Amino acid sequence: MKKITIAIDGHSSCGKSTMAKALARDAGYIYVDSGAMYRAVTLFALRHGMFDETDRIDNVRLEEAMPGIQISFKLDPETRMPQTFLNGENVEEEIRTLKVSSHVSPIAALPFVRAALTRQQQEMGKEKGIVMDGRDIGTAVFPQAELKIFVTASTEVRARRRYDELKSKGQQVDLEEVRKNVEERDYIDTHRETAPLRQAEDAIVLDNSNMTIEEQHRWLLEQLQTRIEKD
Ligand code: C5P
Repeated sequence: MKKITIAIDGHSSCGKSTMAKALARDAGYIYVDSGAMYRAVTLFALRHGMFDETDRIDNVRLEEAMPGIQISFKLDPETRMPQTFLNGENVEEEIRTLKVSSHVSPIAALPFVRAALTRQQQEMGKEKGIVMDGRDIGTAVFPQAELKIFVTASTEVRARRRYDELKSKGQQVDLEEVRKNVEERDYIDTHRETAPLRQAEDAIVLDNSNMTIEEQHRWLLEQLQTRIEKD
């Protein structure tokens, strides 16, 4: 069957990766979590002291370092879940901490960071048969994607989901702090100059506030089926 490109964009913590992973698995497509790439660059910047005490970023040092930041994905042989590697080190857990979440959006607003990661993402998708989730996949990375989904849910629902996820990983977090982080990231992501988060004109909107994971999965498979039958 003909393979297409699927772009899943939307607000923070609305379950994009969960949906995208399941869709890729059932369709036999590659899955790429573009947010993990921005998180990996952020972790690199944090580890190398590129944020000052007021959280200002040392752009010059980061831009110089960019060519040496290698990000890749490998499937965990046991769980079959994709793991993010930063210069050969598995950083999957560390990039999901609230520390990284609260520094990632300013890093993702830097044009030189976006240019470098967008290039890598386009390279990963050149054979099609890919599901990529993020903020600018349908608008900037793959504007020609055959299927574009824009996911959203209420802030309360999203904060609760992220809080439950962090808790289940044993992280000590406060629901209010998580909610503030979700709102802050949405604000920065929608207001930045380069490739801001916005719904592509040809995207199908999914508000999953009141949907179970199974319902979302079925809905997505239907969208894929309908899109493929159209050609
Ligand atoms: O998807 P996730 O929440 O892990 O993404 C982390 C952050 O990376 C987002 O809040 C956003 O600032 C940035 N991002 C982006 N463009 C993408 C994916 C993520 O700017 N395509």
